[in-house]
Amino acid sequence: MTTSPTKAQPEPVALFVSDLHLQASLPRTVQAFRVFLREYAVKARQLYLMGDLFEYWAGDDDIDAPCNREVVDALRQVSDAGTQVFWIAGNRDFLVGAQFAAAAGLALLPDPYVTDIAGVPLVLAHGDAQCTDDTAYMAFRKQVRDPRWQRDFLALPLAQRKQIIEGMRSESKAASRAKSYDIMDVNEDAIAGLFDTSGVAIMIHGHTHRPAQHDYDSIAGPRVRHVLPDWDCDSEPPRGGWLAIDSAGTIRRYGVDGAELS
Ligand code: MN
Repeated sequence: MTTSPTKAQPEPVALFVSDLHLQASLPRTVQAFRVFLREYAVKARQLYLMGDLFEYWAGDDDIDAPCNREVVDALRQVSDAGTQVFWIAGNRDFLVGAQFAAAAGLALLPDPYVTDIAGVPLVLAHGDAQCTDDTAYMAFRKQVRDPRWQRDFLALPLAQRKQIIEGMRSESKAASRAKSYDIMDVNEDAIAGLFDTSGVAIMIHGHTHRPAQHDYDSIAGPRVRHVLPDWDCDSEPPRGGWLAIDSAGTIRRYGVDGAELS
């Protein structure tokens, strides 16, 4: 045999990423995301950004901050190249609005979102709404997802909003350290409930930073929950990756270097 083994690459239909936590202080992660967009996302028909793409989003009037602008322009190149880009908000970038969506050339989706990709019915969610054991977080989520709270918050000057978010971030870090490992994962009853109301057998979510495939036997039949990884390419070893659905409806997992993971 003189030819190297060629592996037929299935056509990527949709790619899923979450929890990149992009910020100016993590330039290698921003760079890795740009490589992912340029090398992989442009070749897919659809790209799903599943929450916490940004470490925080203070409002669409912050779009011209250098790191934000770089990411928005890179997303725009992908959508201009013909890939449909979809956005589900995370617990850090839920203040993204119509101006951001138009600039990046993407469509805002609700959380959860039930769809059919390559013949596979599935439900997409960021994952924070299913962390119901963390009652303090759930109360906070209810407050900040309230349209009236958001309207009032966005009416504040940008500098003041950033200051408030900084305060929330340090409080949240301190609270996370005090919480148990289990409390910060999804609640299995909430997951089963989301499967039930969605009426599908496949779920993809992020948020927990615990990439895995969970297989369930339920009275409704077998169910699979795919958890996306978070990204941090400014640490050693670099961390990140994505899920892909090919034209045959097969879901595969890839590392941040683009290598398929088993
Ligand atoms: Mn999150």
